[in-house]
Amino acid sequence: MSADIVVAFDFDGVVWDSVDEAFEMAYRAWRDMHGAPSAPKDRLRELFRAARWQAKDGHDFYVIMAALSQDPPRDLAEMPLADFDALREGLDADAEHFVNDFYEHRRQMRTNDFAGWMALQRPFPGVAEQMRRIREQALGVAVATTKDAHSAERLLETVGVENVQVYGREVSLDKADHMRAISTQFKVPTSRIVFVEDLLENLLPLMPMGVLPVLADWGYNTAAERARAESLGVTVASVPTLANRVLTCSRDR
Ligand SMILES: [Mg+2]
Repeated sequence: MSADIVVAFDFDGVVWDSVDEAFEMAYRAWRDMHGAPSAPKDRLRELFRAARWQAKDGHDFYVIMAALSQDPPRDLAEMPLADFDALREGLDADAEHFVNDFYEHRRQMRTNDFAGWMALQRPFPGVAEQMRRIREQALGVAVATTKDAHSAERLLETVGVENVQVYGREVSLDKADHMRAISTQFKVPTSRIVFVEDLLENLLPLMPMGVLPVLADWGYNTAAERARAESLGVTVASVPTLANRVLTCSRDR
């Protein structure tokens, strides 16, 4: 079975379980700007994990840290996305500074303490294997992420997935731009791109472009988001059957 599709993967929450690494970088960047939050770090890490599904990029980590630094810290897990967006209002100027510091902390730790950096994160079991299977049968695979491309490439190398084109934050923070870049690079219309994401909000704007959306059921989303995805015609896939689902749903169009 082969398919004339390109399969793009979101990185954090799909290929990589990096929430604790993101928390550590966010905590350090926040502390540089505002001092350490008053609540215990372990408690903040727990709340950050629960809120992770709301975040689309580093900017949103600032919003989460701002909420967690209130006394008592705000639990964002069940907050509607619209309220989260409202919380983001007015934080732009500081967030930009924070994001630069966040990526600088990451760059330093990746460079100076690679083992320590790796210990904060891990691949989702089985996903690299599914990527390899898809790569054998599709026109290609790519990564579309708001992370820096170099970090994603370094992490992919550790699980033996090499020479995958990574479209990172350097290209754009907008996944529609990533899809257009993939379309150009692989010479396929966007209707031949399958995108595996863990955040429904990132998939919905791509559907009018014809991109075939697949929501990862193992990532940083909630049961409510998975149910909403299915009601909107988005394929919800699990790791063991990912390659089959992706190749089948693309053949059906
Ligand atoms: Mg993600």
